[in-house]
Amino acid sequence: MFPDQIVLAQPRGFCAGVTRAIEIVERALALHGAPVHVFHEIVHNQWVVSDLRARGAVFVDSIEHVPVGGTVVFSAHGVSIQVVAQARRLGLNIIDATCPLVSKVHQQAQRFVRMGHVLVMIGHAGHEEVQGTIGRVNTPVHLISSVADARALRLPADAPVAYVTQTTLSIDDTRDIIDALAQRFVNLVGPDVDDICYATQNRQIAVRALAAQVDLVLVVGARNSSNSNRLREVAERAGVPAHLVQDATEIRSEWLSDAARIGVTSGASTPDLLVQQVVHSLQSRHNGPVTPVLQLPGVQEDVRFRLPGEISEPVN
Ligand code: SF4
Repeated sequence: MFPDQIVLAQPRGFCAGVTRAIEIVERALALHGAPVHVFHEIVHNQWVVSDLRARGAVFVDSIEHVPVGGTVVFSAHGVSIQVVAQARRLGLNIIDATCPLVSKVHQQAQRFVRMGHVLVMIGHAGHEEVQGTIGRVNTPVHLISSVADARALRLPADAPVAYVTQTTLSIDDTRDIIDALAQRFVNLVGPDVDDICYATQNRQIAVRALAAQVDLVLVVGARNSSNSNRLREVAERAGVPAHLVQDATEIRSEWLSDAARIGVTSGASTPDLLVQQVVHSLQSRHNGPVTPVLQLPGVQEDVRFRLPGEISEPVN
């Protein structure tokens, strides 16, 4: 069976934090010339990284690999205070592309620790955002990623526990984990609800609406993209097969055999070009008339974040 219809989620793709981070690297290249060093992938997408690399960005996983006096851009995921201190020691010109919504979590974490709370972070071990947030405070942080982890925390019930969350988690899982913490700790405090960002929430709500209307969901996004992985999980939990593909070349014919309507969405760091290539690839498998594409109604995002002062001037 070939798809009768391709259905696109709304919203999908780039969020304001990713748009800002890419623009920061582009402006840094225009202002300072190549090379501009970027600490970690600026956003989790290989296409974006390769494109910026071709234009003179050099991606490093250690600050020591930036030449003394050079320019370094911190990625959208944020960095620890140790990384900032090391960059300063080396006299680097720092441009911070940390998403303002991640910086907000950093500030919350620091405030909770200053108030004397024991900090719990809900997030995924090894993710750069989690490493950056944990590295923003100088006390041990309890990292948990499941209800079982919350129940297993070795802290007394009256401990002054505060929590923060990674910005790209599953809305449903996080709610359950916070509920489990609230059941265990009588003095629990946290942000109003959680720190899951507007873009993550909007894309999860949109993929759930998409899954209700299609036989298969394809999420276009990088394998190391947290929010893209969560979109695939949300679709699958809604009851349809769902696959994460980095680009059109990863679509497998056997996935499509029972799918009359195919839903497509993308993570917050995925350029829409890759979505369009997926759509064209699906259409090209059809010998008859071109498969129609329907875009679902959904939230029209108009969030914009200001650029850092040092590169906010127009570049000629
Ligand atoms: S996904 Fe959310 S927190 Fe992450 S860069 Fe985008 S807006 Fe910022």
